[in-house]
Amino acid sequence: MRELKEKVLEGNLKLVECGLVILTWGNVSAYDREKGLVAIKPSGVPYAEMTADDIVVLDLDGKIVEGDLRPSTDTATHLEIYKAFPQIGSVIHTHSKWATIWAQMRMDMPCFGTTHADFFFGSVPCTREITDDEIDENYEKITGQIIVETIKKRGKDPISVPGILAYGHAPFTWGKDVDSAVKNSVVLERIAEMNYYTLFNSKAPAPLKQSIIEKHYNRKFGPNAYYGQEKHN
Ligand SMILES: [Zn+2]
Repeated sequence: MRELKEKVLEGNLKLVECGLVILTWGNVSAYDREKGLVAIKPSGVPYAEMTADDIVVLDLDGKIVEGDLRPSTDTATHLEIYKAFPQIGSVIHTHSKWATIWAQMRMDMPCFGTTHADFFFGSVPCTREITDDEIDENYEKITGQIIVETIKKRGKDPISVPGILAYGHAPFTWGKDVDSAVKNSVVLERIAEMNYYTLFNSKAPAPLKQSIIEKHYNRKFGPNAYYGQEKHN
């Protein structure tokens, strides 16, 4: 698990470097599908002091198999996402400013431009509100189940829409590995800022037309993608 722990440490530090987290906010995890194990940031450890040995390894039931520290408080949310979508190899949660503003607006983020369409195929959904009973029952686990429920209900493919806004809370993003999940978090933050200004500086902007959303997404990620120099991640 050494390599996965190093990768998770690197991903967490990258969030700081990219300006997506302050203090000890934010957490990155990665999933080793073959072993059925998840490596995740420990809870409340300052980024500057964190080492790969601090990264906690658990199975999908949340049983710790490696590590002396308590895992991130959001661990159960990450586990629900991996259980439902095994094609995902890394999950990230931040309270990055602009994406969190959208989560606090409690609305789906429409696709207004091609920067958005290049990475997120259509709108970024906002989940439903969690009920009081659900908060009491198992807040983090049910937060994950609501994310899964939202993706499925909206008929979204979690690989082409690699993130979601948790209602009144903040974004969760993911990818096939840590690098792509970090990239998706950076992109979500940038498009959240752009889309916010678009929404409030235009007269009722309509989402971009579907044909151009498809063109932009597919030239990067579609079966006949032609963006970049090699197979794009
Ligand atoms: Zn949070």
